[in-house]
Amino acid sequence: MNDMIEEARSILKKVYGYDAFKQGQEAAITSILRRQDTMVIMPTGGGKSICYQIPALLFEGVTMVISPLISLMKDQVDALESVGIPATYINSTLSHQEMNRRLEDVITGKYNIIYIAPERLETESIYRLVGQVQIAFVAVDEAHCVSQWGHDFRPSYMTIDRFIEGLAERPVVAALTATATERVQQDMSQQLNLRNPEIIKNGYNRENLTFTVLKGVNKHHFIVDYTMKHQGEAGIIYAGTRKDTENICKLLVKQGLRAGMYHGGMGAEDRKQNQEKFLYDDVDVMVATNAFGMGIDKSNVRYVIHYNMPENIEAYYQEAGRAGRDGLPSKCILLFGAADVQLRRYLIDQSEDLDEARKHMKYEKLQQMTQYAHVTYCLRKYILTYFGDEEIEDKCDNCSNCNGNIIKEDMTLEAQKILSCVVRMKERFGTKIIAEVLKGSKNKRVLQLGFDRLSTYGLLSELTIGAVKDSINLLIAEGYLRMTHDEFPIVKITERGVKILKGIEQVYRNVIEEEEVQVKEELFEQLRQLRRDMASNEHIPPYLVFSDASLREMCKQYPTNEIAMLRVKGVGEAKYKKYGEPFMDRIKRYVEEHHIQVDTLDMHIHEKLATKSKKQKEPSCFISAKLFLELQDFKEVAKERSIQVRTVENHIFEAYAQGFEINMDQFIPDGYEERILETIKEMGKERLKPIKEVSDTCVTYNAIKAVIAKHDL
Ligand SMILES: [Zn+2]
Repeated sequence: MNDMIEEARSILKKVYGYDAFKQGQEAAITSILRRQDTMVIMPTGGGKSICYQIPALLFEGVTMVISPLISLMKDQVDALESVGIPATYINSTLSHQEMNRRLEDVITGKYNIIYIAPERLETESIYRLVGQVQIAFVAVDEAHCVSQWGHDFRPSYMTIDRFIEGLAERPVVAALTATATERVQQDMSQQLNLRNPEIIKNGYNRENLTFTVLKGVNKHHFIVDYTMKHQGEAGIIYAGTRKDTENICKLLVKQGLRAGMYHGGMGAEDRKQNQEKFLYDDVDVMVATNAFGMGIDKSNVRYVIHYNMPENIEAYYQEAGRAGRDGLPSKCILLFGAADVQLRRYLIDQSEDLDEARKHMKYEKLQQMTQYAHVTYCLRKYILTYFGDEEIEDKCDNCSNCNGNIIKEDMTLEAQKILSCVVRMKERFGTKIIAEVLKGSKNKRVLQLGFDRLSTYGLLSELTIGAVKDSINLLIAEGYLRMTHDEFPIVKITERGVKILKGIEQVYRNVIEEEEVQVKEELFEQLRQLRRDMASNEHIPPYLVFSDASLREMCKQYPTNEIAMLRVKGVGEAKYKKYGEPFMDRIKRYVEEHHIQVDTLDMHIHEKLATKSKKQKEPSCFISAKLFLELQDFKEVAKERSIQVRTVENHIFEAYAQGFEINMDQFIPDGYEERILETIKEMGKERLKPIKEVSDTCVTYNAIKAVIAKHDL
């Protein structure tokens, strides 16, 4: 057994490029390898799939991964192939022929991981398959779909249990999900008939996500502002309706932003195309209804903004959780408006296929979601408590309630304009037409009613209709206006509203404090571009080449040889072979252009290994150093050896670092040593350029390098 765990670790390193398991992974894998049924509840981005993929590689026989997400299957299989693991999938997108071909390949042992949609389990061809191969392990992904009490019940999941029991030999079964309340967990265990399952619960916390709730912001303004500031980063904006989705997308495109959209009303082909553009980093922002996202596994989404509040916490956490799957800091922002609650209530009301009990449950969940927007304590604590996590810190210091980086902006004047318009219109109209009047719309109805003659007509013409509506909704949420409960609700002014008109009270809106604009590192951008090019050659999403986290690490460590590259998280052998060279070349060029002093330790190891394999050949830097002692000139050495002058220079310092005797003083101008030393201490030795810039012209890069070498800095 211990051998198997060892082997699991070595697969983790060799194949996936990670040194250590993330929390919970090892426990889950150990349990599964012991042939114990296992339930894994691990937040998105926690590395859930590794929990079944590694055992699949170690078990004899075939592993079936049951997954409801047809588009995700392809991504998962692509991801496995990108690390050199043969896998395939069976779902309704394949032709009959193709399906049979794949099943044939499973039988002949070409694949031992097969992804399958639950609908396909009880089909003739699958029965034939399981008659011919041994199914060692069944992993049920998104296992919460089996529960009616979950938020995403799928009847096809009810067949899984029957399918498993029908197999000649019962396989190990693992049920995996990212979100499940206590009740859903019990259901998973029962419905899938798990045998005394080991439960691995990782907690739901996603430390890298910052949660923010904004009430009373102008939603359109906010979205435009935010996306403009974050151009070049991937983000998702969820809206409640198709119409909003279209409007927001149009608005962003008009601002020159790279935005795309996705909703259920679009044709399948358009949806697919837009989704791919987002996956391949061809658009930055995806504006979508909740129809979007189930099938995507993009790891570098930096923010998720909810334009409307979702129906329950599960849905919110799942959607928001699509941010930051690579573990890097990412933002989840909910733009709350009172109208959202009404919209959701209405939708539940209208759904005819719900019995009273389910309706009641939905109202309750909606209530809990609404509370999230109103709590004054830690937002993370609220969510985690909802999912039953225990022992949560009171403050996370990473949510808008803990950090309070929200500033209030005075909107009294705007409010006065709106309120007086409501008064002028005799408090007899709804939000839409009030907004149109304030905007100065030439709409037929506005003109018919003679509202273009009101003194308040066009008072807010500089805003969009949507922005004006948002402001009206804010005033409703804050109690300055109220809406009647009619079929066509009318907006009326309240006593508090009168105080605004009289100038007795002020109104504020929340604005997120200007964030520090992160300086985009040049190298990161270069590597990103390279990744995009390589991915588009292969027709795979860029994150399958390397994740953002891997690129970030490369920017920190500047790996320029195999050993250093393999040390980067997420770089395993297969990926190294496929993509390593061009990335190292780009990094090398950058390091040279910017005169960055890279820790030479890696180079030494590399040299040593190279030396060993070449039967103790003398290190190249020693050859250069010896020649230098003889010729006393870099250029001459370079000529002699047919290598670059810069390489020779580097060789000299490298050889010195390895104990070769060369007088460093010859490179340092007289009387400058102390001064250079001071500057290095002050500015650090990572980047030589700034040191050179503040130094005298006679101080060369070599002089700086010599000081660093001499003082062993
Ligand atoms: Zn907090």
